[in-house]
Amino acid sequence: MPIDTFDRFDAHVHVGRWQLPDFGGHGSDLDDVSGVLSATGFTGALVMPTDAGDNAGTLAALDAYRGPLSFLFAPWIDPRDASLPAFLDANAGRIAALKFHPSFCRLPLTAPEFRPFLQHAADRGLPCVVHCGRWQEVAGWSITLQVVESLPRVPFILSHMGGDSPGLVAGAAAAIHERHLDNAYLGTESIREPWVVGRALAVLGSERLVFGSDHNLNHPGSFLAVIEALGLSAAQRAAILGGNARRILALHAGSH
Ligand SMILES: [Zn+2]
Repeated sequence: MPIDTFDRFDAHVHVGRWQLPDFGGHGSDLDDVSGVLSATGFTGALVMPTDAGDNAGTLAALDAYRGPLSFLFAPWIDPRDASLPAFLDANAGRIAALKFHPSFCRLPLTAPEFRPFLQHAADRGLPCVVHCGRWQEVAGWSITLQVVESLPRVPFILSHMGGDSPGLVAGAAAAIHERHLDNAYLGTESIREPWVVGRALAVLGSERLVFGSDHNLNHPGSFLAVIEALGLSAAQRAAILGGNARRILALHAGSH
């Protein structure tokens, strides 16, 4: 794959080993991740733990990392982790965003257990990355958009463009547009069909799509190819492949 010099940023990258039995112990460390992203032409990424929720370990790996990429950190928000509130306070200057995974936590984003952490994001102006999937009762985009609407100053990136199927992506894009939810963005991770991305782009514009790969589960090259297949203008590519994420996350640096 030809690599140009454009400053690419991957807004959805996991570091560490997965616990979900389906993933068979799959994992990779920060150096592995850095190598894959570098080889694919990325210069930065938003890094988060796996379902192991190892926020301290991920932050320690970022501290020990010496380049060449620049990473931002998003802790994994599991309300059952009793040490989490203290961790968030102690490391406030290092946190660029919060990562919510309703499916793994088996709680919809509207659950009261999540509320203190959403309030933390609102108080500190932290963007939130929220997994959206096909499990509608827990991880449906419509649940996430209720929270998006209630916290208009918090940027929310809906992972998998709202749910990783053509109908869910179209529904999420239409709802964001119709309800004027200007703080909602769609993350492109795991969408394989260029036309699905293109349809959302036509509804929302390139300023609202944020490139993500969901590496170390997926390879960033897969979804880079999907974006490249759209034949976008240089300005649209720049926005989706890095500009939007950098703008959303810029105010919350703590870059490593
Ligand atoms: Zn993910």
